[in-house]
Amino acid sequence: MKPVKEKLQWALIGASDIAKTRMIQAINAQSDSCVAAVFSSNAERAKAYATENGIPKAFDELGNLLGDPDIDVVYISTTNELHCEQAMAAAAAGKHILCEKPLALSLGDAQAMLQAAQAANVVFATNHHLRCAVTHRTMRRLVKEGAIGQPLAARVFHAVYLPPRLQGWRLTKPEAGGGVILDITVHDADTLRFVLGAEPEDVMARSVCQGLAQGATEDAVMGVIHFEGGILAQFHDAFTIEHAPTGLQVHGTEGSLFAVDVMTQDPVGRIVLRRLEEETEVKLDLPEDLYAFAVRHFNQAVRTGSPPFATGQDGLRSLAVGLAALESSKSGQRTPVCYS
Ligand code: NDP
Repeated sequence: MKPVKEKLQWALIGASDIAKTRMIQAINAQSDSCVAAVFSSNAERAKAYATENGIPKAFDELGNLLGDPDIDVVYISTTNELHCEQAMAAAAAGKHILCEKPLALSLGDAQAMLQAAQAANVVFATNHHLRCAVTHRTMRRLVKEGAIGQPLAARVFHAVYLPPRLQGWRLTKPEAGGGVILDITVHDADTLRFVLGAEPEDVMARSVCQGLAQGATEDAVMGVIHFEGGILAQFHDAFTIEHAPTGLQVHGTEGSLFAVDVMTQDPVGRIVLRRLEEETEVKLDLPEDLYAFAVRHFNQAVRTGSPPFATGQDGLRSLAVGLAALESSKSGQRTPVCYS
């Protein structure tokens, strides 16, 4: 591996909303990294986006960006069908990679991406921001410490209203990885794996179109993930629900954790531990921006070889759950989660 620079230069692959609203700030907030370039498939958009966001270089040819020796890291946040090809090209160019979820549209593609990164000896991480939240990290610790005994069940409330500015490809383009399952259920899968410390084994899901999405794209889903050890996790994900808080509950033999407002991009939310009739508010460490936390760990991974906070393997596993949920919602059958 090349010697690591004092300030890592990140390039954005994709002139996206998530980069603009969350990631540019998160990268520039670190003392050891900055956003140095952006790629868009459209030259005008690349230039306008760079100007608007104070990014020094704009590219409309991915090969030119990847050929720039100043760039150390790429953050891929294009639509989902493009992640695989772009990650493979970035790995071949020796760039470290933070890739958005879902990593790809098939398990084979996700595996190829991970193998390419491994062969190129670059860091590969998945931008599963939720596990970076102090709330989820605290829940994981409490479950591990036995605060609720043996976990038996979980419930995820992740039904939100898709903001009008994002009402595009997610609602109309299954070929771009649109639909609520690849958008939100993959986040649930990662958060549940992280908090429970257990692996999903099979999924049953029922999805519908409640009028926001079009054609074959689902905008709401409910389902059950069966984890190793017999844990059942229920999930409700939607783009159509305007008036409900998000939440995560974990129920064990000795107690239950109730977390409210935690399936969100902001460092908010609270957790109550309940044992029989007694309820205790769980004390949380100082919240940190979820995306900044992820970038901080990513930079550290580049510098020290430590794992990023959500690895490529984590992204592959959440994708596997999403694909099983999609399959189950089509077939009406319980569907095993296949990791290879
Ligand atoms: P956007 O729709 O904002 O951007 C996706 C692509 O659409 C861009 O790469 C861009 O192509 C193109 N695009 C953007 N604006 C325009 C426009 N005005 N006209 C034409 N094309 C345009 O996507 P999101 O930011 O919502 O999502 C991007 C990725 O990030 C997805 O993989 C998604 O799943 C993930 N995501 C992750 C989140 C997280 O918290 N981890 C949250 C939100 C999204 P080009 O680059 O070629 O210009």
